[in-house]
Amino acid sequence: MDYTIPLFNLNFDEEEEKNVVNVLKSRWISSGPRCEELENIFAEMLDAKYAVAVSSCTAALHLAVLCAGIRQGDEVILPSLTFVATANAVRYAGGIPVFCEITSKSNLTVDVNEVEKLVTPKTRAIIVMHYAGFACDMDSINLIAQKYNLRVIEDACHGPLSQYGSSKLGTLGDVGCFSFFSNKNISTGEGGMLVTNNKSFYEKARLLRSHGMTTMSYERAKGHSTQYDVIDLGYNYRLDDIRAAIGIAQMKKLKPDIEKRNTLRQMYIKNLKTEEKLIIPFEDYNYISASYIFPVVLKNGDSQKRDFIRNYLAAKGIQTSVHYPPVHRFKIYQEYVTGPLEKTEYVSDCEFTLPMYGALTEKQILYICSVLHEALENII
Ligand SMILES: *Cc1c(COP(=O)(O)O)cnc(C)c1O
Repeated sequence: MDYTIPLFNLNFDEEEEKNVVNVLKSRWISSGPRCEELENIFAEMLDAKYAVAVSSCTAALHLAVLCAGIRQGDEVILPSLTFVATANAVRYAGGIPVFCEITSKSNLTVDVNEVEKLVTPKTRAIIVMHYAGFACDMDSINLIAQKYNLRVIEDACHGPLSQYGSSKLGTLGDVGCFSFFSNKNISTGEGGMLVTNNKSFYEKARLLRSHGMTTMSYERAKGHSTQYDVIDLGYNYRLDDIRAAIGIAQMKKLKPDIEKRNTLRQMYIKNLKTEEKLIIPFEDYNYISASYIFPVVLKNGDSQKRDFIRNYLAAKGIQTSVHYPPVHRFKIYQEYVTGPLEKTEYVSDCEFTLPMYGALTEKQILYICSVLHEALENII
């Protein structure tokens, strides 16, 4: 189906093309100087000590779980209302995902009171996910982590440059993970970044990113080193310089793009807040958010009503999505369910995500909102 208003649109121009061509002309296309440059820009932007460029956020999450020391049988508390990669990363290391409820129908991040109830002697870490770029209650998460000696990993895929107080998301726990997948705020096709202030985590992530080898091939090619040893079981989770060059161009646009998204978000809110059949999650959020997506939740809804609305919008050329089918309902995760997750299930049945990207116009937002009002009038 061809949508007149897609869910997302790439924010690309000649800058990305120019950067890619320069890398191709340089004849060094794998991990090298552009990856290092991207890491430096990223760390500086987040006021983080270290950044490690990787091939995806999934890779970053896996490395984060390994840095946190997760091993066979260790429990990790995480939300079910997230992308499946958050949970998969735990299982790659033999860990057991323990699904936690969200706070409410309007705060879709993990419920800190529930987190504490799920802590057992086997718990080693908490993974939070800053839904749509809106921060979890990180003060409470960090207090629980201190109390029980747990590591905190932030899946900050939705929140580059989002803030919690004056700190950037991804720097509030032990490790932060970001994605550069094509529909994220920063798009390179595939790609990701691990961020940390912990030097030994930084060194471990760098080592495991490239087969546990003591030097990178770029360093060897430059003659800085001719030999290497393999001192840990690593992976090939490297980013390449072609994608890093796209990322460098994208980083320059990030701040203005987020400002634009927040203007658009306010337009949506203004036009939808009087709608009695809708909940607008994080409506009164006070900090800067990357506004990766614009989610809404039906009041007194169910999945049939939600799908009716989505089809209605689709017929008018408006693409929507669902964030997310909850992980605990997937076949390979059902056995991990330990208790009811009613709010999570309600939201995943009744949530839909409206278009959000910097190039959306006010006229398009008004159109989307008027079609949505019309659809809501027609459901019952
Ligand atoms: C996109 C996303 C991921 C996975 O990122 P990849 O770069 O595609 O591996 C993980 N978690 C969340 C919350 C995401 O949105």
